[in-house]
Amino acid sequence: RFRDGERVLLIDERRRSQFIDLGQGKKSSTHHGSIVHDELIGQLPGFRLFSSKGKAFRAVRPTMAEAIAGMPRGAQVIYPKDLGQILMMADIGQGSRVLESGVGSGALSMALLNAGAIVTGYEIRQDFANRAWNNVQSYLGPSALSRYTVKIADAYTAIEDGPFDRVVLDLPEPWRVLEHLHGKLVPGGIVLAYQTSVGQLEQFRSSLNVNGFFLGETLEVFVREWYHSSSALRPDHRMVAHTGFLTKARILGD
Ligand code: SAM
Repeated sequence: RFRDGERVLLIDERRRSQFIDLGQGKKSSTHHGSIVHDELIGQLPGFRLFSSKGKAFRAVRPTMAEAIAGMPRGAQVIYPKDLGQILMMADIGQGSRVLESGVGSGALSMALLNAGAIVTGYEIRQDFANRAWNNVQSYLGPSALSRYTVKIADAYTAIEDGPFDRVVLDLPEPWRVLEHLHGKLVPGGIVLAYQTSVGQLEQFRSSLNVNGFFLGETLEVFVREWYHSSSALRPDHRMVAHTGFLTKARILGD
C-alpha cells in the first residue's frame, strides 16, 4: 500500500503523467485541479482517484524507467533501452564488483545496484555525486546505499580501489581509463563504454588491444514502439534514432 513519503506516478485518462511525493495533509496541483494526498496514502497501487475538478487519475509506483525519466538530472543520463543492454553485455549480477565512472545523475548506478552489484563510482564533480546519491536513495531506498560508494576522483589519473569484476564507463575519454585497470580488473573481467560519437568510439576501440583487452564488440540498441488504437495496430511513426554506442571487451590474464 502507498506510504507517507513515497513517490508515486499519477496518470490521467490521456496517459499524461506526473510524480508526487506523498505527504500527510498535503495537496498537489495537476492540469485539472488538485489531488489530496491523504486519499492515496494506504491505498493499493493502481488506485483510481479524482481531482478537485472531477478528473480521474490512476496512481502507480514508478518503474525504474519512469523514475529515471522523471528524476532531477544535471548530466545527460543513459536511457533505459541502453541500461538494459548494458546489464546483459557487462554481465552484471548479484555481488558483481563494479567500477562506474562518471556517475553523472546516477541512472546507470540505479540499474547496476538494482541488479545486485556493489558499485564504486568515480566522479569529478561533487554536485553530480550528490545528485546521483540522492537519486539512488530516493528510488532504491537507503538499503541500496550500503552497496554504493561515490568518490570525488578523476578516473583519468588513477584507479585506487579494486579489485573489480566489471568496469562501466560513461565519460568523454574512456580510453584514458584503460591503462589504470591493470591489476584492478580481475583476469577475464569486462570493461564496457557508452559513447555518443564515432570519433570517441574509434579511439576507444583502437586503445583496447594495446591495453591488453580482447574480444571487443560494439553495438547500438534500437527500440521501435508500436501504436495501438481501436482502428490500428502498427509501428510508431517516430523512433529514437541515436543515443550511444556500447562497446565491451575482456581483459587478458597474465
Ligand atoms: N552514466 C550517467 C547516468 O546515467 O546518469 C551519466 C554520466 S555523465 C554523461 C558523465 C559524467 O562523467 C559527468 O558527471 C562528468 O562530471 C563525469 N566525468 C567526466 N570526466 C571524468 C573523469 N575524468 N573522472 C571521473 N568523472 C568524470
